[in-house]
Order: sequence, then C-alpha cells, then structure tokens
Amino acid sequence: MSKNVKDYIRTIADFPHEGIMFRDVTTLFADPRGMRLAIDQLLEPYVGQRIDKVVGLEARGFILGGAIAHQLAVGFVPIRKKGKLPGAVISEAYTLEYGEAVVEVHDDAIQPGEKILLVDDLLATGGTASAGVKLIERLGGKIVGCAFVIDLPEIGGRKVLEDMGYDIHALCA
Ligand code: IMP
Repeated sequence: MSKNVKDYIRTIADFPHEGIMFRDVTTLFADPRGMRLAIDQLLEPYVGQRIDKVVGLEARGFILGGAIAHQLAVGFVPIRKKGKLPGAVISEAYTLEYGEAVVEVHDDAIQPGEKILLVDDLLATGGTASAGVKLIERLGGKIVGCAFVIDLPEIGGRKVLEDMGYDIHALCA
C-alpha cells in the first residue's frame, strides 16, 4: 500500500524538553517520494490561483517554501529570527511558553498588493504563523493561504488563524 505524508514523519520523545513529543520532518525531507508527495500536496489547493511570492518561516519553512516557490515559478521570501537578516527589517514579537520571540522580514521583500502563500512545517499555538502574517500584512501583502505539513489542532493554532480570517491547509495532524 502506498505511504502517505504522515508515514514519513517520525516522533521523538522528550525533545527539546522532557514531555515534548517532537514531530521530526527530516525523515520526510530525506525520502524522495515523501518530499515530492509533501510538496505536491502542499501546492495542490493553490494551483491556478495567483500567487506572487512564497514566504517561509525559519527554518523548515525555508526547505518547503523554496521547493514550492520553484514549482510555482515565483519568488521566495524568508521570515527569520531576530538579527539574522542583513538588510533593513520590520519585526514582530510573539509569546512563547516561556518568554518572547521576535521574527523579522526585509522591509522591501514584499510589495503592496502581492499575493502571498505562507509556509511552515508545523502549526501548534499559531504564535509563529500569526507573527508571520502580521509582518506580511504590514508590508501590504495579501495572504492567499497558510500551508503546513502538520497541524496540531488540539493546541489551537488553526483556530487562532481561522479566527483572524486566514485559510489553513494542512496535510496531517
Ligand atoms: P507555534 O508557534 O506554537 O505554532 O509553533 C510552530 C513553530 O514551532 C514552527 O515554526 C515549527 O517549526 C516549530 N515547532 C513546534 N513544535 C514542533 C515539532 O514538534 N516539530 C517541528 N517543529 C515544531
């Protein structure tokens, strides 16, 4: 029987902290069929829609987003953790379980009115993706959708983003 995307993802207990079940997508990325399946399925709802740029969230969103941008023949824009981008940036802070994180994008990376697909590997609380969509919208980008390999709906991120009016596409839970 053919494998689906979830079959290529492994779960590692107690990483990065005790009690966390970490979804490790490196096994999906390392498999030629798994990687192709994931990219094809992430793209599927957006084929035929106008998309001007793919935006990926650091770090696994870069791997997925780069492949999707190539398939769509559009540009790719990274949203990075604070202090990593060399040019002028805008920043958004968001709350973590313990403390705060900041993500940034180059202030000239998106032009007003551009249609944007946001990509990451996993949606949990939605904090990272919410900060990402805020950065995109502050630059005038219009979010066409937010695509994830994994959605953990019990943690609530999908609801947060849907309540903000965004369309969520996820391949597995
Ligand atoms: P959120 O901000 O709580 O939605 O967490 C999502 C972000 O944390 C994404 O950028 C993920 O890459 C990362 N993340 C959280 N948990 C995991 C996991 O189990 N596997 C892989 N990435 C994770």
